[in-house]
Amino acid sequence: MAAPNFRAPKGTRDILPPESGRRRAALDAFAEQAELAGFGEIMSPIFEDLGVFKRLGESTDVVTKEMFDFFDKGDPPQHLALRPELTASVCRGFAEHRPTPPWKVWYEGPQFRYEQPQAGRYRQFHQVGVETLGTDDPQADVDVIALGWNFYASLGLRQITLLLNSLGDPSCRPAYLEALRSYLTENYSSLSTQSRVTLERNPLRVLDSKRPEDGEIIAAAPLMVDFLTDETRDHFDAVCAGLDQLGIPYELSPRLVRGLDYYTRTTFEFVADALSTAQNAVGGGGRYDGLVEDLGGPATPGIGFALGLDRILLACDAEKVFATPEPVTKVFVVDVTGGNHALVICNSLRTAGIGADRTYDSRSMKAQMKVADRSGALLAAIIGEDEVASGEVTLRDLRGETGQRRVALGDLVSTVGRLLR
Ligand code: AMP
Repeated sequence: MAAPNFRAPKGTRDILPPESGRRRAALDAFAEQAELAGFGEIMSPIFEDLGVFKRLGESTDVVTKEMFDFFDKGDPPQHLALRPELTASVCRGFAEHRPTPPWKVWYEGPQFRYEQPQAGRYRQFHQVGVETLGTDDPQADVDVIALGWNFYASLGLRQITLLLNSLGDPSCRPAYLEALRSYLTENYSSLSTQSRVTLERNPLRVLDSKRPEDGEIIAAAPLMVDFLTDETRDHFDAVCAGLDQLGIPYELSPRLVRGLDYYTRTTFEFVADALSTAQNAVGGGGRYDGLVEDLGGPATPGIGFALGLDRILLACDAEKVFATPEPVTKVFVVDVTGGNHALVICNSLRTAGIGADRTYDSRSMKAQMKVADRSGALLAAIIGEDEVASGEVTLRDLRGETGQRRVALGDLVSTVGRLLR
């Protein structure tokens, strides 16, 4: 029988070194920005009761079509699902643990959606995000948006556009929905088949349609901003004023509705202009004032975002910023004695906090030097019979700047430390 030819499942992929090192560095950069802004990390389960995610809204594709759901082996079995995003889990966590508000948490991790894979769209993808629960102060919205903005900037991204809208709240949304529904119904015969179905479920989501036949109708549709009550208008104005004060540019985007049903008031998206239009959303978020309550907690307003790390790194490639970090290996130990020297020297360098590596299988000097050159290490520590006899090591500068020298074995770690500084 032929050996099986397994591949990573459709829509997933292995992230190998050195690209994995770049991801890790991006995650660290996000953690740093979030901690600087007073957020603490939340680590939630990767799967939840399906019901948690159903609260995201029965009319969203994420819930109706894209869920990776399964039954566990319990009796009776529990209907679970891999998380498609993290806001619902954070709100479930808030309802479960009742921390003192305002509660500010950040997260990172894989999300799962059964989508049609294409460039920048995967079935397993990585998000970083934050949520602030327990305040509806517009300055909390500005803080959250600024954190996202600063993170992109910290990676060196310059071509990011912030799109901003207000989706109103339960005091003004019904009147708008009614106006939108009757406008779309009047134009029913010109809508795409898909948008006709969407209209039945949630007229707001028709505004999300990218189908060309819907373009003209959407362009002339009534706008939420014209229906805002004084209170929601004041809230939105305060968010805009805060962004102005921080010098963060934004584009008002009155048709921005975003994929999930639960958003109220402030809604935003970050778009990478360096990416092609199909998958150029590198993050998005907004305010949601009913989700914690829907998940069994007290009425709690919230604001947050999720940023798509896979696409952010594609945007970095497109803008040629945020290169792969320098290799951690600084010293490559070349041992041609066939003894344990490489083992001992590597271990003493590593315990002193200096990245060290070596080859195995007693390879020739030439073969070992080749690997040393490829490793990105700055120095080779070479040990042969001569060095063993004199109790020394030859240190060679692999970047060719200072040649080579002999160092007493006992001084190796301190000499390397000095050279690296
Ligand atoms: P959403 O919660 O759908 O607004 O997603 C937030 C961000 O996650 C988006 O702006 C994308 O950058 C990223 N994202 C969402 N779905 C995918 C996917 N299937 N593949 C890659 N990134 C995604």
